[in-house]
This record gives sequence, structure tokens and C-alpha cells, in this order.
Amino acid sequence: MSALDGLYQELILDHSKRPIGKGELSPAEGALTASHHEFNPSCGDEIDLSISVDPETGTISELAWQGQGCSISMASASILSQLVRDEQLSMEDARARIDAFRSMIQARGAEEPDEELLGDAVALQGVAKFVMRVKCAMLGWVALEADLAQVEAQRTA
Ligand code: ZN
Repeated sequence: MSALDGLYQELILDHSKRPIGKGELSPAEGALTASHHEFNPSCGDEIDLSISVDPETGTISELAWQGQGCSISMASASILSQLVRDEQLSMEDARARIDAFRSMIQARGAEEPDEELLGDAVALQGVAKFVMRVKCAMLGWVALEADLAQVEAQRTA
């Protein structure tokens, strides 16, 4: 195990022990909200992930989730929450991050992940080596993608 792998494992463990964004959504008045339940039957992970979006700016103002599952799925959701919270992502930005994350996982180490887009989520790169864990890592990100589609439908309605 390389030093970097060790560092990554520690980060994942840290996030799974003290998850960021776990809790209830408390949206501001007038905010657009969406919630999605995602289940990964191969591992038993599940998550309910909610967002609120500022209807004027299209910025994700809050992300909150509840869930249970393996440490990979929970750490991944926590890292995603941190990314959304710290960078105050627009919906477009969030989609770009989800795409970058999916590419990283699907590339299975064949390409360097975009650390600028992904932040701590690059720690999950090693997960791609294990086919069974791909859905665990993607769980929260897929749920956010579904939420974004729901909000988009509200915005264009
Ligand atoms: Zn899992």
C-alpha cells in the first residue's frame, strides 16, 4: 500500500465516521426542493438525498441526506456534501462534478482524475478497482443527479 492509498483510506474512514451533510433539509422560503431515494441492492446501501436550490441563481443552497450502508457509500455521500457545501455549486457545476466523478470511477485508474473538480472525492478512485463497490461509491451522486433533474423540471415548468 502506498502512502497515498493510506491517506485516502484514512479520509474515507474519517468521512464515514463523521459524515458531513447528514440530517434534515431546512430550505429557505421560496427555495426549490427535491428529494430522491436511491438503493443499491448489491450491497444494501440506501440514501435519501435532498437539496434546495435558489430559484433566482440556480445555486444549490443546501444538501442534506439520511442513509445507511457500507463505509464507501456513506463516505462518498459525505464527500459529495462537502463539495456542494464548500463550493456553493450551481446546478450546472454540480452536473459537471457528477460527470467527472463517474468518469473517474469508470476509467478504473486509466486516467488522472480532475482534482480541481473533484476535491477529496479523488480518494475514491481506488474503489473503481472493485466492480462490486462502484455502485456504493456512486450512490449519493446518482441521487443528486435525480434531484437536479427534479429541480430542473420545476424551473422549466
Ligand atoms: Zn456499499
